[in-house]
Amino acid sequence: QRFFNILGIPIVHSDYHSFIELLEEKIRENKKTFVVTANPEIIMRAYKDKEYEGYLKKADYITADGIGVVIASKMLNEPLPGRVSGTDMMLELLEHANQNRFRVYFLGATEPVLDLFLKNVHEQYPQVEIVGSHNGFFDWNDNNIKETIKSTEPDLIFVALGVPKQEQWIAEHLDYFQKGIFMGVGGSFDVIAG
Ligand code: UDP
Repeated sequence: QRFFNILGIPIVHSDYHSFIELLEEKIRENKKTFVVTANPEIIMRAYKDKEYEGYLKKADYITADGIGVVIASKMLNEPLPGRVSGTDMMLELLEHANQNRFRVYFLGATEPVLDLFLKNVHEQYPQVEIVGSHNGFFDWNDNNIKETIKSTEPDLIFVALGVPKQEQWIAEHLDYFQKGIFMGVGGSFDVIAG
C-alpha cells in the first residue's frame, strides 16, 4: 500500500473504486476498519492539535476528501488518483448494503435531521438493515450507544458528529467493537436529509 504524506498524515494512494472494493473485502472478512476521509480542515487540525492527531493515528486508512488535498499531492509531485469522499462512499456503500443486506448503524446529527435522513435512506435503499441509530447530542458516559453497536454487529457505522468529535468518538470506542467499518461523515446526514 502506497501513501502520500502531507504534514505527517499518510493519505492512502488509492482511487475511489479500488478503495470501495477494499472496504467491501473488509466487510466480507469481518475486519474492523476505521476510515478517515481527510479534507484540508482535518489535515490542518491534525497538524495543530496533537490530541486530534492521536485519533487519526488509530485510523486504518486516511483518504483524500476534497480537491485541496489532491491538488497538494500534485504540487508535491506525488499525484493522488483523485478524491475519495466520505459522502460519496457512504451512498455507494449503502447501495451495496441494499444489494447485500449489510447491517448499518447511524450516529449523529439532530433528531429531526436524523429522522428525515433515515426516511430517505429507507426509501432509497429499502433492503438495508438499519440495526440502530442515535442523534449526535448524547452523554459520552452513557454506554447505551456502544452496547447497541456491539450487540447488533453492524457492518457499517457512519458517524456524523462533525470534526473533531467524530474521529474522537471512533478512536475512543474502537477497541470495544469486534467488527465494522467506522467512518466519520461530517455533515452528510444533513445533506441527505434535504
Ligand atoms: N453534530 C452532532 N453532534 C455534535 C456536533 C455536531 O451530531 O455534538 C452534527 C451536526 O448536527 C451535523 C454534523 O455533526 O449534522 C456536522 O456538523 P458540522 O457541520 O459542524 O461539521 P463538519 O461538517 O464541518 O465536519
